[in-house]
Amino acid sequence: MAYKVPTSGQDRRKEYYRRKAVERSAKYDNQWANFSKNYRKSHPFCVECLKLGIHNTSHLQVDHIIPLEKRPDLKYEDTNLQVLCRRPWCRGYFSFMSFKENL
Ligand SMILES: [Zn+2]
Repeated sequence: MAYKVPTSGQDRRKEYYRRKAVERSAKYDNQWANFSKNYRKSHPFCVECLKLGIHNTSHLQVDHIIPLEKRPDLKYEDTNLQVLCRRPWCRGYFSFMSFKENL
């Protein structure tokens, strides 16, 4: 079957998430998984929650301040890393929404 170029908004979104998943599996390999586990051990709180005085230790992910796409060389650089939880406002939900509008 020939590859169908996504036309509708829904197809475009599907294509976007598929591409994202491929990128993620390439970037976040086993080495990263181990590194991030250790990093979260030494930085056990979400930095955004901490600003609000909440010591949140659940659903933590290590985030790159300058995105990996821009600076892949900073992947393991301490100064480019921060621990965030999955709460939308900790993960820059509003900037994500404006990003989505530009799709
Ligand atoms: Zn948080």
